[in-house]
Amino acid sequence: MIPFLDLKAARAELGSEIEAAVARVLQSGRYVGGPEVEAFESAFADYVEAESCIGVGNGLDALTLTLRALGIGPGDEVLVPAHTFVATWLSVSATGACPVPVEPSPCGFNMDPDGIAPACRPRTRAIVVVHLYGCPADLDAIRAVAAAHGLPVIEDAAQAHGAYHAGRRVGGGTTAACWSFYPSKNLGAVGDGGAVTTDDAVVAQRVRQLANYGGLRKYHHDMRGTNSRLDPIQAAVLSAKLPHLDAWNARRRRIAAIYGDGLAGTGLTLPEDPQGASVWHLYVVRSADRDGLADRLAAHDVEALIHYPVPPHGQPAYADLAADLPPLPRTEAIAHELLSLPIGPHLSEADARAVVAAVNAVV
Ligand SMILES: *Cc1c(COP(=O)(O)O)cnc(C)c1O
Repeated sequence: MIPFLDLKAARAELGSEIEAAVARVLQSGRYVGGPEVEAFESAFADYVEAESCIGVGNGLDALTLTLRALGIGPGDEVLVPAHTFVATWLSVSATGACPVPVEPSPCGFNMDPDGIAPACRPRTRAIVVVHLYGCPADLDAIRAVAAAHGLPVIEDAAQAHGAYHAGRRVGGGTTAACWSFYPSKNLGAVGDGGAVTTDDAVVAQRVRQLANYGGLRKYHHDMRGTNSRLDPIQAAVLSAKLPHLDAWNARRRRIAAIYGDGLAGTGLTLPEDPQGASVWHLYVVRSADRDGLADRLAAHDVEALIHYPVPPHGQPAYADLAADLPPLPRTEAIAHELLSLPIGPHLSEADARAVVAAVNAVV
């Protein structure tokens, strides 16, 4: 069986490094905050070339706290991709604001810059852009429309660790980029974790306060914050993994290239990487017979998954928005056609070729 993703393989590759990182925290007696968290924050800020990095509990909190830091709350509207993982929408809802979906581009998965202006209304306060599947969104075009409407752009970079946009890394030089270190992400912890990177000192300070009960000094609370911290054990593991991220992304790129070459004649719609900058968090093909394809691949011992079978606007959680939604035909078509093939830094090239052979055998 070729598994979709083998999460134990990174530990096997790094051998004792992960164990040593965990042991260091256990022996230190610093079980919340402290030098391991600071060291990772500093290393990750350097990596993405951002002024600040604030570790938080998970990717959803990174987004929610950033939106709150920008003053977004009840009565506000925030533009979000119609096609994304539900957490992007939930972060907006968590502030009390309302998510307003924007369709993906006609031949990609990311937010269509041309869909932004028509979705803007008097209460629109921000745009959350997702670099879905590791492929950077068209930030230049999106920032241009955002600037014309006076809106901040927040990047949901939970699937794009190490990706580039216009020659610099995603997450640097921006209002805020929000990260998840959920184990299956390109940079993954051994549990939950998240971070915000930003060049805006005010956003940085507010996120730090909000994540720490609303204050920076113990027992002094300027705002009604929450408790959302990057765990030192996770920070230590992430520090051990970060130096390997670029090499791991290069291996993902190699697998994407094998798929791109090997699947060109299958009639499947293959994912595009218009900027040549994707870090291939997922390799997502489109097929009109998606379910049949997935079943036949399973019979050939290839595990393929669907990201995501039901778009946020179709979830019961958002049933109350249905009456106000614009038609979202691209998003709905995509949801029926998507299939993610196995990909990860530890999928061997031989296995990638076996996936190619299996797909060619069953289409
Ligand atoms: C994983 C993910 C999140 C949420 O991250 P968690 O750490 O699981 O809370 C948000 N947005 C996107 C696009 C994601 O893939």
